[in-house]
Amino acid sequence: MYITMVSAECAPVAKAGGLGDFVHGLARELLARGHEVEVILPKYDVLRYGQIEGLRKEVRDLWVPFHAEWLHCDVECGEVDGIRCWFVDPHSPQSFFARGAIYGEPDDAVRFAFFCRAALEFLVKSGRQPDLIHCHDWQTGLVPVLLWEMYQGLGLTHPRVCYTLHNLGYQGVTDIGVLHQVGLDPRRLMTPDRLSDPANPRAVNLMKGGIVYANFVTTVSPRYAWEIQDSAQGMGLQAVLRSHAGKFSGVLNGIDYATWNPALDRHIAQSYGPESLPGKARNKAELRRRLGLREAAKPLVAVVSRLDGQKGLDLLRHGLSYALAQGCQAVLLGSAQDPAVDAAFRRFKHENEGNPDCHLELAYDEELAHQIYAGADIILIPSVYEPCGLTQMIAMKYGVVPVVRRVGGLADTVFDANFSDKPFGERNGYVFDHLTPEGLESALSRAVGLWFQHPEYFRELRLNGMRVDYSWARPAERYLDIYQRMRA
Ligand code: ADP
Repeated sequence: MYITMVSAECAPVAKAGGLGDFVHGLARELLARGHEVEVILPKYDVLRYGQIEGLRKEVRDLWVPFHAEWLHCDVECGEVDGIRCWFVDPHSPQSFFARGAIYGEPDDAVRFAFFCRAALEFLVKSGRQPDLIHCHDWQTGLVPVLLWEMYQGLGLTHPRVCYTLHNLGYQGVTDIGVLHQVGLDPRRLMTPDRLSDPANPRAVNLMKGGIVYANFVTTVSPRYAWEIQDSAQGMGLQAVLRSHAGKFSGVLNGIDYATWNPALDRHIAQSYGPESLPGKARNKAELRRRLGLREAAKPLVAVVSRLDGQKGLDLLRHGLSYALAQGCQAVLLGSAQDPAVDAAFRRFKHENEGNPDCHLELAYDEELAHQIYAGADIILIPSVYEPCGLTQMIAMKYGVVPVVRRVGGLADTVFDANFSDKPFGERNGYVFDHLTPEGLESALSRAVGLWFQHPEYFRELRLNGMRVDYSWARPAERYLDIYQRMRA
């Protein structure tokens, strides 16, 4: 099959979170199975250029219609981990993708609407006819809309569109002016069964457009698929999803074991696996040295997270303080987009300054993330909602025991050491329900207690997590099955 992904992110060159990992991981697995795969991305100024091989200008004069003018673009091509990526580079006064960040600009809706139009313009002008276009989240929700409303008529007749929802917390609700800008007719599209936002019918909801117009819609875990149709987690799109239930399903994400594997990881001091678990101790010592933590017989409780309301910010802080009070060491690696959240965590860091058992790193640091997974004993994920969550799956591969709230993909992947109905060999962490300090303590105290009092059982839990197969093999099969059904 010939599959074109259109995405705002692809790890490691453009990654803000799990979306980047998804596109990279699925693309690589599909390539390994002999399919033809390419990814179209914006050419951000913040791309990690060192990770792109053979970057070259392939298309010099792509003129994209936008808001009563034609914007001049180049399209560059390069390989990212063997994946062919196309980078759309507009030379416009708005400098859409030269903003020093992937997201967070006041005109994000316009930037990504332009990207959708440019991606389709590129496909049609270069004569491509993929079997499948796979697009993601609100940023590329206009791709299926533009395809069926406009580009089919311009000759892009072959592709079908699969649309994946990674996070309903961001739907791209914006002014209808964006439709004019990409050449769509708001009078035709701003209806309850098309793009008007359910809560504010005068605004356009780009994610809803993707759901309505795609041939098939997926989300990133079965539990989240249920939550967003049947609970407030749908954030206003519950009814839309229910009315499209016949073309909607949840597929649990995988993780890329070439990137996330303690036996192969170039970023860590000592490689290890289930059969060589003592190697993990050296990584713990190395992590302590790097972060200035003292050597002590204490479990290391870690957080690796975007610092966003979705992640349960109060409980993250409470959990780390509670861990310190229970005699653990605490490490956080987190980055906040919101200046108020950043300031709150800087205060928290200041309060813990000088504590030899605590280190808070307020940054985005891929290499340190690897080292934390390799060195930590317990990882804390008290999310308010969590569509899939890769952190717990990565952590388990590195022998870290997750303590998580029972939501979304966390509920599909972490099974409580004491209370799960699974056999012991399938239990791999600790789970709590209530979004309260007491809820979190009820799970974290059990994990810490086991580390101190029953190290042999703690080791078994680590091993249970390390043995689970969360590779892309199974999810890629599900996606291929979905793609094939869409083509049938
Ligand atoms: P989300 O997509 O909501 O951010 P996921 O758990 O699906 O959450 O994916 C998070 C990914 O981002 C993981 O690969 C994790 O290691 C990585 N990550 C999160 N925060 C940081 C950070 N501050 N530095 C480095 N990597 C991070």
